[in-house]
Amino acid sequence: MKVLVTGGLGYIGSHTVVDLLNENYEVVIIDNLVNSKIDVLDKIKKITGKDVTFYEYDLCEKEKIEDVFKKEDIKAVIHFAGLKAVGESVLKPLMYYKNNLMSTINLLEVMKDFNVKKIVFSSSATVYGEPKSLPIYEDFPLSTTNPYGSTKLMIENILEDLYKSDNSFDITILRYFNPIGSHKSGLLGENPNGIPNNLMPYIVRVATGKLKILSIFGNDYDTVDGTGVRDYIHVLDLAHGHVLALKNPKTGLKIYNLGTGLGTSVLELVTTFEKVTGVKINKQFVERRKGDVAACYAAINKAKEELGFAPKYNISDMCQDSYNYVKKNKDI
Ligand code: NAD
Ligand code: UDP
Repeated sequence: MKVLVTGGLGYIGSHTVVDLLNENYEVVIIDNLVNSKIDVLDKIKKITGKDVTFYEYDLCEKEKIEDVFKKEDIKAVIHFAGLKAVGESVLKPLMYYKNNLMSTINLLEVMKDFNVKKIVFSSSATVYGEPKSLPIYEDFPLSTTNPYGSTKLMIENILEDLYKSDNSFDITILRYFNPIGSHKSGLLGENPNGIPNNLMPYIVRVATGKLKILSIFGNDYDTVDGTGVRDYIHVLDLAHGHVLALKNPKTGLKIYNLGTGLGTSVLELVTTFEKVTGVKINKQFVERRKGDVAACYAAINKAKEELGFAPKYNISDMCQDSYNYVKKNKDI
């Protein structure tokens, strides 16, 4: 079966492409390289020994998507492509709305025209805003605090309305918690442009000496040690969730949380990192970061029951693999 993976050279997309190829899917990637590098393509081929068809196209250009659907016999789509930096989305909201919404609407229109009705979409735990209790279930109220999150929620609404209008669509919305870690080969991983906003990319750069000190945003939250709690999931487990979503016999519109169901504080993550790598992390406590919630972790019962989702990796594996990637890639 031929699967179109948009954003397939990005962090989560590339790991998913590897998993798909290992499961004998044929893969076609569209990516405009706005946040990824072309050498990822060779790395995917090196890891899997398999070929991938790649189009360096921007999904905001609808005729480019049509070109791909004309040339390739696409049966399903996994839609990762999008801009994802929260802070940047606050500074450049129009760029975020334009890129994330226009690309998705173009893609859905072309899918409808070519009668391709199966799509898996990358949403985020950010759509839960400040959760009313923990763990977070899929039917919790939704709200957002920044333009990036709003694009995710708007796309969820678009998909729901599309499904109401045409229930031959088979739509899976996956709400990711906090992916970290990297491929065991050290060839694929997360390499954000500029100074990272997210915790693990920051920690590994302090570990290699690229950055001096980790600022921990707040130590007075009502959590186990006062620092923020998140549900970190190994990117390999997250990637596999997409393969399971494609294989899911249940059709219609489905929404699943993908996390581990376990909360880990910033200090717990740093301590585990130091233990498994033997590298000390310079750190200081600073003010809370605006917009952060104290704690956020998933209920994953639904993904377990309906998808057979069962994360394999723990926090130690995630720390080890994140560090392995930066050690092997000196330019990071
Ligand atoms: P990423 O930036 O590494 O990958 C996204 C890819 O999409 C990049 O390769 C980029 O070049 C491409 N892209 C962006 N706009 C495009 C366009 N208009 N046309 C073609 N290609 C385009 O991000 P990621 O971490 O792999 O995230 C993948 C998806 O998952 C995103 O939609 C993101 O919002 C979502 N998500 C990520 C996280 C996370 O923590 N990484 C959490 C929740 C949800
Ligand atoms: N965090 C931190 N220092 C950093 C980056 C993040 O203390 O340099 C904290 C942040 O406040 C949150 C946790 O680490 O409690 C995870 O942050 P991240 O940005 O990775 O994910 P998100 O907040 O989007 O879930």
